[in-house]
Amino acid sequence: MGVYAVTGSASGMGAAVVQRLIDAGHRVITVDIAQADVVADLSTAGGRRDAAEKVLAACGGRLDGAVLAAGLGPSPGRDRPRLITQVNYFGVVDLLEGWREALAATGNAKVVVFSSNSTTTMPMVPNRAIAALLDGDAERALRAYRPFAKMAPTMAYGASKVAVTHWMRRRSVEPEWVRAGIRLNAIAPGAVLTPLLEKQLATPGEARAIKSFPVPAGGYGDAGLLADWVVHMLGPAADFMVGSVVIVDGGSDAWFRADDWPRPVPGRRLVGYLRRMREFKKVRS
Ligand code: NAD
Repeated sequence: MGVYAVTGSASGMGAAVVQRLIDAGHRVITVDIAQADVVADLSTAGGRRDAAEKVLAACGGRLDGAVLAAGLGPSPGRDRPRLITQVNYFGVVDLLEGWREALAATGNAKVVVFSSNSTTTMPMVPNRAIAALLDGDAERALRAYRPFAKMAPTMAYGASKVAVTHWMRRRSVEPEWVRAGIRLNAIAPGAVLTPLLEKQLATPGEARAIKSFPVPAGGYGDAGLLADWVVHMLGPAADFMVGSVVIVDGGSDAWFRADDWPRPVPGRRLVGYLRRMREFKKVRS
């Protein structure tokens, strides 16, 4: 049986994942701002450092896997863009960097990052904020949200999820992760009925936006069903799964972007494609 670290373990999908792992006989080290083995505020650098270290101490330097579910939704509030940026992006990246060696120590660890279908269905997310996050520059990202005024938390949410997904996909194929047997993948839920969504539904403006959003299957997702996908992605079924994003959203992404994926490599991208072929030969040798 394995040892897993789960952030955002006290509520919603993180809590559902914890329950399934415990039911299957695994040991889980839970991380959350309250009601967890490791109580830490992931919105601060110190909290993230503390969380990373305490989990390493608790697991004895060996992790079979990790689930990064801690996150904040795009509710209104002046400080919200900063909190979203810190928890949704740095709360994933800093912890995974801190745990990489412990994940490598087991030789076939599996990691699931919580992305969102907002990565493909939310318009106008500023590219320069995504680039700033991938550069590790939170302040530059925050400046990019200012022109959006009341929409800033929404933009911060979309950018945090795109950036964390790009970060995951970049790292997933780097030798120090993939050659160490670490499988990095993401789940991208649509609207799932958890306390995060309930809070949004309690705000009239947000509720209107959520209820009018196209979901071809209808209704909301269930936290337990999402957790089933995550647990599957933590098992041997993911041995050959690297850098994938599993969208479970009732069809919203397919509604908006049926033909966007898969997309063949266009001729104008051939040079970059051939460069990646050459680079691979180098890392393989
Ligand atoms: P939730 O609110 O039920 O759970 C989120 C957890 O994160 C909570 O336990 C909370 O305490 C924790 N958290 C928040 N801020 C923290 C901080 N500063 N430090 C430590 N822990 C903190 O939400 P959920 O719906 O289960 O969301 C899980 C993940 O799924 C999130 O990353 C969210 O962005 C993502 N997601 C949710 C939906 C949805 O519709 N519910 C859709 C797409 C993606």
